[in-house]
Formats: sequence, C-alpha cells, structure tokens
Amino acid sequence: MTEPILQTRGLSRDFGPFRAVDDLSLTIQKGSITGLIGPNGAGKSTCFNLLTGMLAPTAGQIMLNGQDVTRQRPDQLFSAGLGRTFQIPRPFSRMSVLENVMLAPLNQTGERIVGPFLRRARVHDEEARIRARALEVLDFVTLAPLADHPAGQISGGQMKLLELARVLMGDPELILLDEPAAGVNPTLTGILIGKIEELNRQGKTFVIIEHDMDFVMQHCDPVIALAEGRKVFEGTAAQAQADPVLLDAYLGA
Ligand code: ADP
Ligand code: MG
Repeated sequence: MTEPILQTRGLSRDFGPFRAVDDLSLTIQKGSITGLIGPNGAGKSTCFNLLTGMLAPTAGQIMLNGQDVTRQRPDQLFSAGLGRTFQIPRPFSRMSVLENVMLAPLNQTGERIVGPFLRRARVHDEEARIRARALEVLDFVTLAPLADHPAGQISGGQMKLLELARVLMGDPELILLDEPAAGVNPTLTGILIGKIEELNRQGKTFVIIEHDMDFVMQHCDPVIALAEGRKVFEGTAAQAQADPVLLDAYLGA
C-alpha cells in the first residue's frame, strides 16, 4: 500500500523567457527514497526551490499530504514537515557546528538575519530545549565531537552531515537532499547513506538529487529523470539502468 506524500500538477517556473521547470507532474510516495536525476541545468534544484517555497511557481500546484501548499512560505513548509538541504552548503562559517544546528529553523527560510531568532532563543527554556535537541541530532549524524568547531573549518563531507542535522531539527516527514554525495569522501558518504536508510526505516520519505549513478541505483527507488525542465523517465532503478536513451543522453554512460 502506498500513498502520496507530495504531488505536483503542471508545475512550471520561468526565468524571463526561459522555462527552467516545464509542466512537471510528480507523485512522491510516502516511505520512498526517490532519486531525481538529469544533466546539469535540467531544473532539479529549481524544482526543490519550488517544492520548498523558496521560489514561486509560474504555474501549477503543489500538494503536501493532500493539502494545497502552493503559496506557502519556506518556514510554513518546514513546520509542516518538509526539510531540504542545499547543493552548496552555506553554514554560518564563524559560528560553531552546534550553533548552526540550533539556527536551523531560520536557515531553512534562506534568511541570513539571525537577530530575531537569537533574541527569542535567549529565553532560557527555549534555548535549553533547542540546544538539547541540536546535540541529539549532532550525535545522530556523528558530528557531536565537532560541536564546538567553527562550521567553516569542517570538511565538505562533514558539511553535508551538518546540513542533514539542520534538516532533522524540524523532524520532517519528507526530506529533500540536493546532491548529498557530491564531493564527499567514501567514508562520509557511507555514513550519510546509513543515516538516510535508518531514517527511512523510521518512516521518513526522501527525494534525492544525485549525479552518482551507483548511489542512485543502489539506494533510490523509484528514479525520476528530468531534462530541460521536463520529466523524461520514471521507473525503477533497474529500468533506468536498462534504458539506452536515458543512459546515453542523460547519464553520460
Ligand atoms: P540543475 O539543478 O538540474 O542542475 P537548476 O535547477 O539549477 O538545474 O537550473 C535549471 C536552469 O534554470 C539552468 O539553466 C539555470 O541556469 C536556470 N536558473 C536556475 N535558477 C535561476 C535563477 N534564479 N535565475 C535565472 N536562471 C536560473
Ligand atoms: Mg542543481
């Protein structure tokens, strides 16, 4: 039995005369780890920006758990259980790893102004609660030993784990990961995959943009391919691997 957690209908986004996402209708099943693939410029990250309310669609609809969330703001969607990571992690580099996780609800919105949140966090109980939760989440992603390090000094792979930790602060049902394995060494990729699968067993749904086809083939099902803003393939990883057009044109295999 599957039921959709996220659906889009006719989702499109123009940048001037250029259509980056074109009439996209997606259904993401609850409990799945869906792989989103396609060449550079296919519209994958723009799709995530639309789904998380960071960009307004030119046309189309987005439904989360059957509710129309098309015009909701990123912070509303984060509260509703939708979390995402960024292709290029952008931590507050002079703040500690722990502080970055504590500020996660704010980072989700793409805001860079921390004043109001910090003022609120200074209320003692609230800060203690957020700190305890952040430490728990850091422990889960194996970064607890780096909690007091400046976030700008950890490795690229550790930054991807930090991104995941930030997402987990919202206890999301649906997690969108933008190229989690890109530029990450195999040890940290292994840790990340283990955490994704553990969270998936706990019931969390993932959509993962990834260029590493081994990663996609081993861990994602189904696989959706975009090209020039359109969906050009949807099927199992095995079907994707056997699709000559897909392999040739979109995967560069
Ligand atoms: P992908 O993540 O699949 O590599 P993107 O979604 O980042 O692709 O980009 C899709 C297309 O939209 C690209 O041609 C990109 O240059 C364009 N694009 C993305 N964001 C913007 C923007 N803010 N303004 C103008 N063009 C953009
Ligand atoms: Mg991208």
